[in-house]
Amino acid sequence: MADENTNNGSLEGAAPAFAAGGDAGENSAAFAPGKRGSLPRTSATKMAEQLREQVAALLKTEVEELGNVGTPDGDWALVTANKLDEKRLLELYSTVSGIEILDEDEPGDILVFPELTFDFLSSNNCLPLVWDSEKAVLAIANPYDAGRIAMLWKNMFFLDARFVLARRAYIERYISSLYDNAGTDSENGKDSDSEQALRDLAREAPIVRLVNDIFNRAQEMFASDIHVEPAETEVLIRFRIDGLLQTVMRPPKSQYAAIASRIKLLAGMNIAERRLPQDGRIELAGATPIDVRVSTVPCMHGESIVLRLLQKDSAIFDLDKVGLLPDNRAALESMFNMPHGMILVVGPTGSGKTTTLYCIMAVLNADYRKIITIEDPVEYQMEGLTQIHVKSQIGLTFASGLRAIVRQDPDVILVGEIRDRETAEIAIHAALTGHLVLSTLHTNDAAGAVTRLVEMGVEGFLISSSLLGIVSQRLVRRICPKCGGTGKSVEEPGRRCRNCMGSGYRGRIAIFELMQINDELRAAINAHKDTTELTAIARRHGMRTLREDGDLKVAQHLTTESEVTRVCMLDLENI
Ligand SMILES: [Zn+2]
Repeated sequence: MADENTNNGSLEGAAPAFAAGGDAGENSAAFAPGKRGSLPRTSATKMAEQLREQVAALLKTEVEELGNVGTPDGDWALVTANKLDEKRLLELYSTVSGIEILDEDEPGDILVFPELTFDFLSSNNCLPLVWDSEKAVLAIANPYDAGRIAMLWKNMFFLDARFVLARRAYIERYISSLYDNAGTDSENGKDSDSEQALRDLAREAPIVRLVNDIFNRAQEMFASDIHVEPAETEVLIRFRIDGLLQTVMRPPKSQYAAIASRIKLLAGMNIAERRLPQDGRIELAGATPIDVRVSTVPCMHGESIVLRLLQKDSAIFDLDKVGLLPDNRAALESMFNMPHGMILVVGPTGSGKTTTLYCIMAVLNADYRKIITIEDPVEYQMEGLTQIHVKSQIGLTFASGLRAIVRQDPDVILVGEIRDRETAEIAIHAALTGHLVLSTLHTNDAAGAVTRLVEMGVEGFLISSSLLGIVSQRLVRRICPKCGGTGKSVEEPGRRCRNCMGSGYRGRIAIFELMQINDELRAAINAHKDTTELTAIARRHGMRTLREDGDLKVAQHLTTESEVTRVCMLDLENI
């Protein structure tokens, strides 16, 4: 609490020597609500000196050993060397200059001012946020040039410029997208076909920063996928967050070749190949390392690039957090605690089946059990498991892999997906001969899994004798616990909730339809009863439908009616 107060104090401009003095009141009016611009009252030399002292204290070194820290390049070198976080640097800048930091959450509409050129803005690292006959508010990446820029503004436009500090990537991104539309297209067209030109483009500092910025923001916003989609005049950068896509950036088309080349270079792809689909991988280091799967497909306006972010941290697999209500949790546990038999998790793509399976794996993962998985691809790595990646090009299919796995003396086998009769029969055989087998199927409801296996040509008695249960599931967005779903900040009235970026949702939980196979169902499967009858029997024994499970979660304020309706509607479309 005390910490928070100090922090607020300094951001409110309490450092008296550098605050904007008598102008403070006017300043607050001069900028969007809640934000203030200010003019540094300290010389660049003085700011540099103070910054060096603060950095030395922070890094526990001597001021003399800091080299050219205290200059834009010197400071930035600390950030690129990972010695100093860019946000921390901005805070230091703010302390020594009294200039506030821009709240990037609420950038508002940033307009283009035709009086200003791209070269002018990029060489000064400065972006006008507000500019009318009375005031100009400029975002700058460092405070050293503020005095000079203020002077320029005064001389050229007869206006007092006020400043806010913003991250370099933020400023560069807007300058490029707003001011860089003309000219560069033809320049790119000239020789960007040569591999060397593409490599050079991919190594340009602003592009490196832009792509890093995309990764950072994706992680901050808990995105599962990044979509880079070239259109006619711009590039759409969209993130998938809690299952839904949203546009986060629109860089100009002129930057596309460089962005695409940068990503392909990182992913180890052939940078010159732009006519064929490619696959690659990027390892993002950081507090929680992230494995990124990259795929490119040529389309109308270039290559569409999709990056899938796979968290490597196995701590995310917690069966208590997937949204199982106590009765279903107990039923599922009684199934996977059986020494042998088959459990199927069903639902469309993106319904969280693999996550549920891995949550079960996390519970089963113990020294005395051998767990082998065969998947296409292996999405999550978990220590203690033997994980096999299907490679059908060389003949390692689900079926052939599974046959080999059975000879490896496993206790538990996870088969990524059952797609054909052969795989189904080997899996069922394994389940009948002393192994616990878990797998997934693409069907809409639990009973549909039985029908699907029958359609594949599997005998009813094999299904009924091996099956322990079927879990059908969908993902719904979870109401943000911080703001209770309002999307508005509780601590800072008038602002949006930072935990959910104002959407009112944060993370997802699953809704379940859990069919535990009992004697009556076994008999019905043997008698070739259809989906409706199987469902009716299961419901007599207490099975909830997806909708009913969802309604209970709405009542518990875990999700909303509209979310449950949305995912249940998707089903109708898929049938
Ligand atoms: Zn919230």
